[in-house]
Amino acid sequence: MNLIRLSKSSVGNEEIRAVTQVLREGYLGMGEQVKQFEINLEKFFGRKVLCVSTGTSALQLALQACGIGSGDEVIVPSLTYIASFQAISATGAKPVACDVDASSLIIDSNDVEKRITKKTRAIMPVHYSGGVGELEKIYSIAKKYKLRVIEDAAHAFGTIHKNQLVGSFGDIVCFSFDGIKNITSGEGGCVVSNDKKLMKVIEDLRLLGVENDSANRYKNIRSWSFDVKHLGWRYHMSNIMASIGMVQLKKFEKLSQKRQALAKRYDDKLRGIGNVLPLSRDYDFVVPHIYVIILSKKINRSLLMTCLLKLGIQTGIHYYPNHLLTLFKSAYKLKNTEDIHQRILTLPLHPEMKLKDIDYICSQLESIVRN
Ligand SMILES: *Cc1c(COP(=O)(O)O)cnc(C)c1O
Repeated sequence: MNLIRLSKSSVGNEEIRAVTQVLREGYLGMGEQVKQFEINLEKFFGRKVLCVSTGTSALQLALQACGIGSGDEVIVPSLTYIASFQAISATGAKPVACDVDASSLIIDSNDVEKRITKKTRAIMPVHYSGGVGELEKIYSIAKKYKLRVIEDAAHAFGTIHKNQLVGSFGDIVCFSFDGIKNITSGEGGCVVSNDKKLMKVIEDLRLLGVENDSANRYKNIRSWSFDVKHLGWRYHMSNIMASIGMVQLKKFEKLSQKRQALAKRYDDKLRGIGNVLPLSRDYDFVVPHIYVIILSKKINRSLLMTCLLKLGIQTGIHYYPNHLLTLFKSAYKLKNTEDIHQRILTLPLHPEMKLKDIDYICSQLESIVRN
């Protein structure tokens, strides 16, 4: 029996050719390919883009470039990948966990406002499973309290919100191109912003703080005399990664339509099945990275996961709440997150799946949860 994987990179001959080309040229690090990928992404988003090594480093660099560090607090939903929390910690700042809306699983703006203190410097909304929720509310809170907004858009590459592409608006927007995201560059990520001063800082920070090194590297030239004024990191993207990313960006229309078609099929098939509730997302506009359902209380999730795996269906849990982890333990409760985290289940979603895979998964799921 073939295993239907929870997620999977979707790469083919074009990506193989692109990587081979870079290998033949023999300039593997950060160079012309990275510059070209950034130019292509800038056309996509309509504003300045910097590519980096991972989505996590994109978040860390964005925070650091805002001057956020030790003694500062950043509000972030607990229901996210550990990367969001560790990126904040990496700057020396404290991640302050907040709750999500119980039905969308997206950051709850009312709870955000409750978590604001004198130390709060930024809000990091997470576009869970591709949806952005009421992002305007987050921006109006940020304006009221003079906070920065660093959007963790790792799940939302390609999502349209009120006629605007996520990343084409907003303060600072960070994407991930890791192997299973909506597009991949192997590993990788990017920062998108209109803040020119901030982007200049990030450009240097990603190359160990070496001033103006990016401009040389774009031309495949090294800098031999330079100044360094800030703590920096080796977080640049390589030509190998960029060459994969460029092919994926070119294919994005196809990749995103596939993800949307699969998610719509799940919605159709699962509607009306008792004991499972799909998240409410409009897949004409949302490009889903994961497909999550909420199980009713009487369903034993781990048993369900075991049964599905025996039927060749791999499932997952996105995510175990960060505020319940030893490192990030909070002194307060987050009602919705704590109510829901034991009942969420992620079903397989990747562009190489077929509609009939979805039909198979849904019929197996139905027969298990019905009993
Ligand atoms: C994938 C992901 C990240 C981090 O991206 P990497 O490229 O894996 O470092 C951050 N936040 C969320 C919500 C993610 O899913």
